[in-house]
Amino acid sequence: MFLQARWKLTAWYAAALASILLLVGTATYLSVRRSLDDDVRSAIKTAMADLAAFDPSHYTPLRENHRERDDDDDEREQPAPGDGSSEVVSNEVFFVTTDRNGAVLLNPRGVDLEHIDFTALVARADSGNSWNDVRGEDSRYRFASNATTATVAGEPVYLHVGQSLRNRDSALSSLWKVLAFGGLGGIGLACVGGFLLAGRALKPIQASLESQRRFVSDASHELRTPIAVVQANNELLIRHPEQTVEQNAGQVEAIAAETEHMARLVGDLLTLARADEGRVQLAREAVDLGELVTDVARDMKALAEAKGVSLEVAARPAIVEGDSQRLRQLALILVDNAVKYTQGGGTVSITTRKAGRRAEMVVTDTGVGIPGEHQGRIFDRFYRVDAARGPGAAGTGLGLAIAKWIAEVHGGRIAMQSEPGRGTTFTVRLPAVG
Ligand code: ADP
Repeated sequence: MFLQARWKLTAWYAAALASILLLVGTATYLSVRRSLDDDVRSAIKTAMADLAAFDPSHYTPLRENHRERDDDDDEREQPAPGDGSSEVVSNEVFFVTTDRNGAVLLNPRGVDLEHIDFTALVARADSGNSWNDVRGEDSRYRFASNATTATVAGEPVYLHVGQSLRNRDSALSSLWKVLAFGGLGGIGLACVGGFLLAGRALKPIQASLESQRRFVSDASHELRTPIAVVQANNELLIRHPEQTVEQNAGQVEAIAAETEHMARLVGDLLTLARADEGRVQLAREAVDLGELVTDVARDMKALAEAKGVSLEVAARPAIVEGDSQRLRQLALILVDNAVKYTQGGGTVSITTRKAGRRAEMVVTDTGVGIPGEHQGRIFDRFYRVDAARGPGAAGTGLGLAIAKWIAEVHGGRIAMQSEPGRGTTFTVRLPAVG
């Protein structure tokens, strides 16, 4: 499923990039082509304008005769266009004159015109289309063709100013290749990069989905055992309907204990599920951690005494802003664990104090401690050090996960220090008010 999503993301990414490249590439290509065409056009136009300054009689091979006949001194001094000394046309631009039938009259540059159909150019000039591209032997040419005032056998002489498009065409074809190969290469690289990035982006989602899946499967697993115990005991009871409750006290007590465990488990699951969704409404009130732990200690005293564990409280005022019910739940989880994992004769001490801008609650016990290899996972959901106690044992394995969430949702942190065989200390630090 994730691989498919990864490929899909990559495909979208590549498609988006391809569209952008296509757009930018087309715009670049068109603007370069336009600028090259403008150059060609203005070179031809300039040459055309310059040539117009010459006496039209120069456009026919008979110009020497004209000169002699006209006896015009000014004109005699004027250099003929394209005769080598002229600056009129650049190296790339040339001109040709033809008669009305397209027969070449003048070709001063000696351009190879064999493959150029001047008849068509004349016809198009006559119909108002001065600008034409034609294919020569080894390159294309752009021509501007116009009828001049010069005549030959009573018909007008046509002036064709042309430029080879070889440079323009080869520049455009190189540009096209660079854009096409660059674009394809870019898309190829983007696909590889996109695939790697998509993998990275999907990792946290994958991790969160996997943790949700594990949570659900762990929860089902945890519930299966108490349900099985309740079912087995129920069957025993049903098999002997004639017996009194007193006679089956064992079964009834087991059912009660498992039901209570399930209720606690379901309550904890609900808390964590709501926490995951961010749906828990927290009260914002001033809570004195000192008062709160004094209260909790009073509630836990009987349980601790029954176990032979002495409970000590050193509560100094430490006021935080938060939800008193949740903070009480946090203190209860820590104190309950401390009592649970401390043998008779041991001590559990609870202290609160204000330390700088933090309010501190510390629960220390002289109990069994937590082995080093388990310390990193102690806040994980369903994690229990003594897994051998197995599901159905008193704890749900969710207490510390809930404690951590309560501390964090109040802008604080929870830390643990433990020495196996000597005891454990949990420290909660929350932002203090006042
Ligand atoms: P549980 O419901 O099993 O107590 P918790 O999440 O509260 O679940 O605790 C997880 C595990 O951390 C416990 O099973 C226990 O092994 C260990 N643990 C928690 N508190 C203490 C403590 N004060 N001393 C020793 N071990 C502890």
